[in-house]
Amino acid sequence: MRSYDLIVLGGGSGGLAAAQRAAEYGARVVVFEPSRLGGTCVNVGCVPKKVMWNAAHLAHTLREAAAYGFQIDVHSHDWSALKRGRDAYVARLNEFYRVNLESKSIDWVRSSASFQAPREIQDEAGETYHGEHVLIATGAFPTVPDLPGADLGMTSDGFFDLEDLPQRVAVVGSGYIAIELGGVLQALGCAVTQFIRYETILRDFDEMLGRYLIEQMRAHGTDFVTGAVPARLEAAEALSLTTEDGRCVAGFDRVLWAIGRTPNTASIGLRDAGVETDASGNVTVDRWQNSSAAGVYAIGDVTGQAQLTPVAIAAGRRLADRIFGDQNDCHLSYENIPTVVFSHPPVGTVGLTEQEARKQYAENELKIYTSEFVPLYNALTIEKPKTAMKLITVGADERIVGCHVVGPGADEMLQGFAVAVAMGARKRDFDDTVAIHPTSAEELVTMR
Ligand code: NDP
Repeated sequence: MRSYDLIVLGGGSGGLAAAQRAAEYGARVVVFEPSRLGGTCVNVGCVPKKVMWNAAHLAHTLREAAAYGFQIDVHSHDWSALKRGRDAYVARLNEFYRVNLESKSIDWVRSSASFQAPREIQDEAGETYHGEHVLIATGAFPTVPDLPGADLGMTSDGFFDLEDLPQRVAVVGSGYIAIELGGVLQALGCAVTQFIRYETILRDFDEMLGRYLIEQMRAHGTDFVTGAVPARLEAAEALSLTTEDGRCVAGFDRVLWAIGRTPNTASIGLRDAGVETDASGNVTVDRWQNSSAAGVYAIGDVTGQAQLTPVAIAAGRRLADRIFGDQNDCHLSYENIPTVVFSHPPVGTVGLTEQEARKQYAENELKIYTSEFVPLYNALTIEKPKTAMKLITVGADERIVGCHVVGPGADEMLQGFAVAVAMGARKRDFDDTVAIHPTSAEELVTMR
């Protein structure tokens, strides 16, 4: 049996970050990853998605270029050339991660692994490994609904395999992935129909964001079928989707399920390790990422908490700092995590939504500032989409507990404002900050 200080199950963002930080402290580390290094984010998530978002953003810009005096005739878009460039970039990242592991003397076993006992792991070939500490960072996979014909659809993994742009796609879901990938397809020339269960999108976000975004997505041509709970998918000449209330929409080349993700915990022997999961299969952890078994930890999507790459990385590094760096109380705070939806335009948000704030605080403790305006960029364009912003403040000194933006640039804007919110900024701190003119961001420091 081979022995290590740290065994990491999963070579995604969180697992690799923890492995590398632990190795920097001198720990002997092995990572089990049967697939490409980098996990969801690098291979079938954030990175290739952002490349596709860039392409979609360019498509929007090209349509607006005439307003700025350009005479451009765009003949076509070569999806497969874009895919080749994207895949090559991802392959370079895979290699970068491999070299990084090698340079830190971290072993990589290209196999899945499962627990035999709390700190005993077996690989596919039957070899066993003992770890002083074991980290579960196996991530999650896109959920496919349990309904007739569901296998005829694809998930975000399938989206990244597409060799050509489909002509007509149904997107099911109203969260990050549905909105982001639906937006890319629509911008690049596909006719998109989004099936959402309620009347609006991004329902876990501040209510203003979904309200403004759905209007702009409709203006870009996306068709929304609302109050639509999918019931079955059928294939004839094309795919047709029927909802629970009997509506049937036909003629799709592809159907994309984007209804959440399921943790990768079913086949890693958690019962043998005494590791508890919740009803959805997520590994339950305390604030230090400890599972119910001593010496076994979990980070990232497999815990079901804030399924975001930087969260997994931050939790992984802090865990390694705690275990191997003698920083006994080191842990990640899950409050004030900023996040962006790469829609068109993007959404950026940090802190409490208005719905959450109204539940947590009395009406007279809250003061909410809003602003809507047409960005200067759109002064010349035919379309006049509105940017919307909201600051949620609490108490007599107006501590900012929520900051929400939908509009061009929101994706780059929020990081800096997230620092201010995390530091406990008051509205007067924003007011005391000199604006940068002319930008959209300046509205956040000039709201009255
Ligand atoms: P989300 O949880 O974001 O959204 C899924 C939505 O689909 C639900 O909120 C729900 O919305 C709807 N839904 C759920 N079940 C069903 C069903 N059976 N039928 C129809 N609709 C359903 O999940 P995603 O898959 O979009 O993304 C997974 C996670 O990955 C995200 O939560 C996020 O943490 C992460 N991610 C982050 C990105 C980023 O940082 N930019 C990008 C992509 C993903 P409703 O209740 O309104 O119907």
